[in-house]
Amino acid sequence: MAKTKQFKTESKQLLNLMINSIYTHKEIFLRELISNASDAIDKRHYEALTNTDLSADYEIMIEVDHENRQLIIKDNGIGLTEEEMINNLGTIARSGTQEFKEKLENKEDLEIIGQFGVGFYSSFMVADKVTVISKSVHSEDAYIWESKGTSNYTIKETDKETAGTTIILHLRENDAENENHYDEFLSEHKIKGLVKKYSDYVRYPIKMEVTKYSTPEDEKEDPVEYKELETLNSMIPLWRRSKADVTDEEYAEFYKHQFDDYEEPLKVIHTKVEGLVSYTSLLFIPKRPPFDLYSEKYEKGLQLYSKGVFIMDKNKQLIGDHFRFMRGLVDTADLSLNISREMLQHDRQLKKIAGALEKKIKSELEKMQKSDRELYDEFYKLYGLNLKYGIYEGYGAKKELLQDLIMFKTTTSDDYVTLKEYVDHMKEDQKVIYYASGKTKASIMALPQMDLLKDKGYEVLLFTDEIDEFMINIMMKYDDKEFKSINQGDLDLLDEKEEKKIKKMNKDKSNMLKDLKEALGDQVKEVRFSTRLKDSPVCIVSNEGLSMEMERVLKSMPNAQANMKAEKVLEINPNHALFQTLERVYEKDSTKIGNYAKILYNQALLIEGMELENPVEFSNLMVDLMVEANKE
Ligand code: ADP
Repeated sequence: MAKTKQFKTESKQLLNLMINSIYTHKEIFLRELISNASDAIDKRHYEALTNTDLSADYEIMIEVDHENRQLIIKDNGIGLTEEEMINNLGTIARSGTQEFKEKLENKEDLEIIGQFGVGFYSSFMVADKVTVISKSVHSEDAYIWESKGTSNYTIKETDKETAGTTIILHLRENDAENENHYDEFLSEHKIKGLVKKYSDYVRYPIKMEVTKYSTPEDEKEDPVEYKELETLNSMIPLWRRSKADVTDEEYAEFYKHQFDDYEEPLKVIHTKVEGLVSYTSLLFIPKRPPFDLYSEKYEKGLQLYSKGVFIMDKNKQLIGDHFRFMRGLVDTADLSLNISREMLQHDRQLKKIAGALEKKIKSELEKMQKSDRELYDEFYKLYGLNLKYGIYEGYGAKKELLQDLIMFKTTTSDDYVTLKEYVDHMKEDQKVIYYASGKTKASIMALPQMDLLKDKGYEVLLFTDEIDEFMINIMMKYDDKEFKSINQGDLDLLDEKEEKKIKKMNKDKSNMLKDLKEALGDQVKEVRFSTRLKDSPVCIVSNEGLSMEMERVLKSMPNAQANMKAEKVLEINPNHALFQTLERVYEKDSTKIGNYAKILYNQALLIEGMELENPVEFSNLMVDLMVEANKE
């Protein structure tokens, strides 16, 4: 008795979508079915490693039945039990692969490849009835599953001699109005073309009986038609083919299918290395970063193959965190694939490969930076932040590797500039690399601290990512030149004479400076005359060490500690009219200077874009001052 069962709700929805969509790529159903067949053989092959009874001459067979308008795909893979048919063909959740993965993970720590786009259901795009006949290697019984792709399917016992799966597609009637000629999927020529296009690198033979004609010795005789079993695919994985023979479209098609992306890759890096460790790698930079790239959940890793045979999906060892956005695979003959414990001993080999890949990726990126800046800019916008984290993490271990890949916009350039380019632009008398943190270029340009730098024509790197200052603190130097924040420490902008003058003033006016500082209490470490101001009266800077920007970032973190504070310094411009006013006030009544200090400090905070600690007090002080100044 056949059992009739309902599809799960999500499956129904998917089915509807699939059948009714005006999906133009109906032909991909064949790729999907061949993929499934190849996966099923992989699974059997994997089990046969420890249970040689299961081993077979693996193949995928395509048959065409013109009379009944049937296209048949057979494999001698692992097969499906009744339960698996119900669970795997009746749901969209891809649970079969998932469960298989889990089973493997528990046992051998290996995973098997799984994610294959739209999968089995795509057959309903071309078929109005699908029959699956299957016998699992683990069962004596075979089952037949059948569905018209509406809401239910039937399942019952049947006879099948050997393990494996046969899928029969009952092709739809041609629909001339919508230009759907389902008959074409019965054409040998079409099928050959599709296998070449989508499944050439499947590593098991895909065989079909094709029509051949004899070449008669006597010209008068007609050629005789005969059938011959032909293997349609080259079985050479795409990455094993020579670079020159693979077209951009083939790479793109391969990438999309293999890594479940609908967009073409931004960049393909295909390398073959022969040496102490030999390997082939095929790497891609996605055009669309994974949405969770910066979350802890993101799983980096490259697929690992041994001599074209899949071993695991996301090998983390092969790629460092700084290049975690890369997708791709490594195929090496130097691994044996059966036992996972052995895999550990291959660590050293994998490490060597990882090291080589890292160098290769860097050199390719540098090449791109030089020869196709537009593309590099696009890359950098997507992944620049990841590179910066790469420098910051591990205490700068990857600094050398990454420092020439990062870029910044600057006060003189709206295009990204590399550090090397910055250094090349440096003025003759410029000794250090200047940077400034801020939200936008305009707000940075307006900072009082920019005065003298603008005058001197020095370029200043614009830091707009929170990681920037932390990263630079790890880097310390580039090309032997120190990094200097425009609002931290001493800027070395003045000539010796000026410098001396300011030093002397700091000494001569120390009483006033001390009283100013006292009025501000713990808010500042020091009040002093500035060596960096030209047109502005005051500014707030910090001493070396933790900067104000870093303080802001750290404070915004969930586990912020109260004691992470920058040492703030209030700087006064000795050449500004304000200074003379202060002197006059101080001479007349030194007790008044305190309120001036508070006003100036708060003003400096405002200019810096920082929050006032006590806005009410500031406002009251301003009002008092206005009243005072305009007394009769
Ligand atoms: P996916 O392949 O992405 O998991 P599919 O819808 O294509 O999704 O297939 C669903 C499941 O059905 C597979 O995971 C697999 O367990 C099973 N399956 C499909 N085709 C075969 C086959 N030829 N042999 C054995 N199992 C298969």
